[in-house]
Amino acid sequence: MEKSYFAHLECSACGRAFDPHGVRTTCPDCEQPLLARYDLDALKRSFDPERWRERPATMWRYRELLPVFDEKSIVTLGETQTPLLPLPRLGEALGLRDLWLKDETRLPTGTFKARGLAMAVSKCVELGIKRVAIPSAGNAAEALSAYAARAGLECFVFMPQDAPLANQRVCQAAGARVFLVKGLIGDAGRIVQQGVKTEGWFDVSTFKEPYRLEGKKTMGFELAEQLQWELPDAVVYPTGGGTGLVGFWKAFEELGELGLVGEKRPKMIAVQAEGCAPIVKAFHEGRDEAEPWEGARTIAGGLRVPKPFADRLILRVLRASGGTAVAVSDREILESMKRLARAEGLFASPEGAAPVAALPKLLREGVLKPTERIVLLNSGTLLKHVELLEGSELPVLDPHQSDSLSRSLWEEPS
Ligand SMILES: *Cc1c(COP(=O)(O)O)cnc(C)c1O
Ligand SMILES: [Zn+2]
Repeated sequence: MEKSYFAHLECSACGRAFDPHGVRTTCPDCEQPLLARYDLDALKRSFDPERWRERPATMWRYRELLPVFDEKSIVTLGETQTPLLPLPRLGEALGLRDLWLKDETRLPTGTFKARGLAMAVSKCVELGIKRVAIPSAGNAAEALSAYAARAGLECFVFMPQDAPLANQRVCQAAGARVFLVKGLIGDAGRIVQQGVKTEGWFDVSTFKEPYRLEGKKTMGFELAEQLQWELPDAVVYPTGGGTGLVGFWKAFEELGELGLVGEKRPKMIAVQAEGCAPIVKAFHEGRDEAEPWEGARTIAGGLRVPKPFADRLILRVLRASGGTAVAVSDREILESMKRLARAEGLFASPEGAAPVAALPKLLREGVLKPTERIVLLNSGTLLKHVELLEGSELPVLDPHQSDSLSRSLWEEPS
């Protein structure tokens, strides 16, 4: 078995280094996120990407650049490589000639949260952590519940009261202790922080442990591999806590240092909801940090993060990549969910449809050009959100009454 080249954890703010074998959360000096660093020089000396191709097409094929040391620690539900699909009909309608979707709905629990939590739970197993807790809009709670069940860990999840019913029920089915919180994800986060002190929970919040990011970064490895190591011109990403956006960038940087990809980097474009757009605001005001968004409201629960903990890292990536940040309305999101389903047969959650919704504006503003290769990210499945789709009343047919089956029924559009 090939070994991991995980060398140390590094504070994203002060650069202080930490032993990779200890239990770590954030930097004790500046309370900023820790980033896993690998011995890329050593890996480069012996590395051949063919090795990755020969392994099963899951996120674990990149194990040299993953933080799990012992293969026996890996907790998996089958984190399959997700398809990168062309969007010819949608592209043509929008005037985009090279439009693609990376469809993360095929992962366990139906969202890309599986990548991060498969990695975080695997590291919990490796480090001997037994009780995990998470504040979540719903999908992270669901993924943690699933992986904790698989690993036999005790799991506590805290969601806003209006979290999708599908998330609530599935967490319960997986045996998690489920709590609804009057408030938003930040309020849930404060309850978890309390439990860390009094109950011995390990906090698996976004960027408050270092390994969810390492799971999410495998999206970037897959995308690069699927495009034969030619990175696209732009990646359009629905941004809540920003793990995926920062993860994509980290992946591209690591591949760059290995010499697998050249200098070119995609424009990273963060899409948020108009009712909660702290990153968009901070980006356009030229700030390094986001201000907490007041009265956050949107149907895209995963984007309802009023103050992302990793705001500095997100803004750094947007600027370094020559990208931007853009907000879309809930109405545009709803329309885009239906548009993607109708044009391409692909089912996106509100968050996953937000990048589709952003395209007309990005084109109008000249951020994207018609011939550029653009990759959208569909982060989650529509199937947990059917209550958002209003349908027309459906005809009910009685097979025993043939005169109820008139031709006009088939001719009317439903
Ligand atoms: C959590 C979530 C997001 C936001 O992801 P980040 O990487 O934390 O920005 C987007 N879409 C869905 C479906 C989510 O569950
Ligand atoms: Zn620090």
